[in-house]
Amino acid sequence: MADKIIKVAVAGNPNTGKTTLINAIAGTNLHVGNWPGVTLEKKEARFKYRDYEIHLIDLPGTYSLSNDTAEEKIAVEFLIKEKPDVVIDVVDSTNLERNLYLTVQLLELEAPLVVALNMWDEAKSKGIDIDVEKLEKLLCIRAVPTSAVKEEGIKELLDAVIEIYERKEKPKCVLHFEDQVEEHIKGLIDKIKEVQPILLDLYPARYLALSLIEGNTSFIDLSLSEDIQKYVQNVRKEIEKLYHKDPVTFIVEERYSIIISIYEQVVKKHVVKSVDITFLLDKVFLHKLFGLPIFFLLMWILFEFTFELSSPYVDWLDETLSSFIAPLTAQLLSSLGASEWLQSFVSEGIIGGVGFVLVFVPVLFFLYVFMAFLEGSGYMARAAFLMDRFMSVLGLSGKSFIPMIIGFGCNVPAVYATRTLENPKEKILTVLMIPFMSCGARLTVYAFFVTIFFTQHKTAVIMSLYLLGIAVAVIIAFILQKTYFKSQSLPFILELPPYRLPTMRFILRNAWIKTRAFLYEAGTFILATSVVIWFLLHFPVGVKKTEDSVFGHISKAIAPVFEPLGFGNWQAAGALMSGFVAKEVVIATMGNIYAGEVIQETEEEKIDIKEKLVQMGTGFLQANVEAGKKLLSIFGIDLAGGEEEEEFEKTLLDTVKNAFTPLTAFSFLVFLLLYTPCMATVFAIKQELGSWKWAGISVVISFTSAWIVSFTVYHIGKIFF
Ligand code: GDP
Ligand code: MG
Repeated sequence: MADKIIKVAVAGNPNTGKTTLINAIAGTNLHVGNWPGVTLEKKEARFKYRDYEIHLIDLPGTYSLSNDTAEEKIAVEFLIKEKPDVVIDVVDSTNLERNLYLTVQLLELEAPLVVALNMWDEAKSKGIDIDVEKLEKLLCIRAVPTSAVKEEGIKELLDAVIEIYERKEKPKCVLHFEDQVEEHIKGLIDKIKEVQPILLDLYPARYLALSLIEGNTSFIDLSLSEDIQKYVQNVRKEIEKLYHKDPVTFIVEERYSIIISIYEQVVKKHVVKSVDITFLLDKVFLHKLFGLPIFFLLMWILFEFTFELSSPYVDWLDETLSSFIAPLTAQLLSSLGASEWLQSFVSEGIIGGVGFVLVFVPVLFFLYVFMAFLEGSGYMARAAFLMDRFMSVLGLSGKSFIPMIIGFGCNVPAVYATRTLENPKEKILTVLMIPFMSCGARLTVYAFFVTIFFTQHKTAVIMSLYLLGIAVAVIIAFILQKTYFKSQSLPFILELPPYRLPTMRFILRNAWIKTRAFLYEAGTFILATSVVIWFLLHFPVGVKKTEDSVFGHISKAIAPVFEPLGFGNWQAAGALMSGFVAKEVVIATMGNIYAGEVIQETEEEKIDIKEKLVQMGTGFLQANVEAGKKLLSIFGIDLAGGEEEEEFEKTLLDTVKNAFTPLTAFSFLVFLLLYTPCMATVFAIKQELGSWKWAGISVVISFTSAWIVSFTVYHIGKIFF
């Protein structure tokens, strides 16, 4: 017998433990994506329980269902259109009064409810006693005490879900408002039945009637008949006359009076003596003088944690790929009689591409772990509070500061770190600013160039690039603020939740689920791009010099675009083109291109050079991770490498020296700083903002600003030098 499928939606206020509970229920079956068209995270899971297949869908966290915010619109639309078999309403047992508002509205929507009384452990330790049976009776629902962090009550919750699903008849249990209002509601429903009955097929009657009276009609797809509109106007007037309140306030208050009466019958509190830990911790973390230094210290730890902890793994990956897997594969292929061309394709195009993807795994994983800790512990809200003053100048909240800091290590995890930003406008703005934060990979290119052209002013040149990136980001945020986002302001409701100790188990599981999502989705895209670039470099088959390859021809074709910026040679254009794969590759590509010019001697030597280039190319893996170290040691820049590499670099240095002047080199670096960081970032933007549109907009903004600023720098520079 085939399993029965139960579609379960999970609703609840923010911070009630929804994420934790879903993780506990679904485990690793969880898939993380976005709701269509918006930047809100959507989680889905399918798993077996008893004889059933449960499909779990996570609704955005909301306080009510009034269609005021993007979150509420999604939740309402889902509940109405998809009609889940069961809705789990996750409430915070320590805060039942506030949480029941959503519960009451879910009942208006006629959702088949199971209430998860979460944080039951905390309620108990706070001396809060909830009469579960009475609550079930009063609301005609099932209620189950749960503790998501302790994984308690999960089985009971799922059993209740099945019970609701299998239940033959729906208990009709209406929470009554004042009699006179109830009559108006009934009258309105009768009117609808009479003139536009189709509305009642589409929407739950009571929710529809109340929404009409509240003037919340954006979820209704049909146009309302005149008759109904008139009737609604009338009801609104009647309510105002009767109660001297506007209808919206009136209905909200009616709901609350129901909630208060339920609350009083169900909840008993006894006094428990305890120290208020949250109060004490806030004395430290929000301290006038120490608050900010502690925040920066934590940011420094976050940075180190993300980029340093992954460093041994990256070294290992680098080593395994370049000195084990790649040569072994090449040998295997050659023993099978594969052409050199095919060997190079597999070892450079494919294995190299896989390396590009894998290198992000530990970085993302550790980032997610740390961010989840910041969120779950309640510190993130404090960080937002501390930084709000500075960030609000840019129309952002304090939270967006953190992804930008991470951007200096690597833009890819930075984009994913914006997941903690709930406001879509803020999220988009932050994501668009991140690519201008100069990442560690770019630093490797700066390091290379300053050693050639600016030996006296290494630090000054590099610092000026970092600052330039920040300045451009600020200017662009400012422009978008005044144009595209003009009408949207940020709601600055900052709630400081109590401090809690999140459990490591959930954090690790959550981090893995998200990292896996990156591997699957971004992995394919990055690998494909890397393969395409390889083909461009090695086509037509048997091509000897990069100049004669398709890549070379394209580079030549686009080179004139850079002429006004001072570096119109095809080599520079080619290096920038490959920089789209990853910035670290720029130098390797330059080497590759110039190699043909440097060495015109024997074939053998050419192969030798090529091998060295492959070595250098895989050195890219390290760059992301070394960012942290390098940022700190900007003063003593040295390119790592053995003796042979050093010699090769010397030859490369000489060639590059002839191709650029200090001014055109600087202009080149400015362009490199500002244009699209790399394919992985572009894909991260697509994944995080849920559409190619924003990824495209980011690319356009980056290229345009790169061109304009480089142009300006070059032409002003020409006056002085
Ligand atoms: P969401 O915003 O609803 O997704 O809430 P989260 O799942 O992120 O949880 C918010 C915080 O509450 C985290 O620190 C969790 O570890 C904590 N939490 C979640 N469920 C429970 C619970 O049952 N008991 C306790 N004591 N803490 C919990
Ligand atoms: Mg959550």
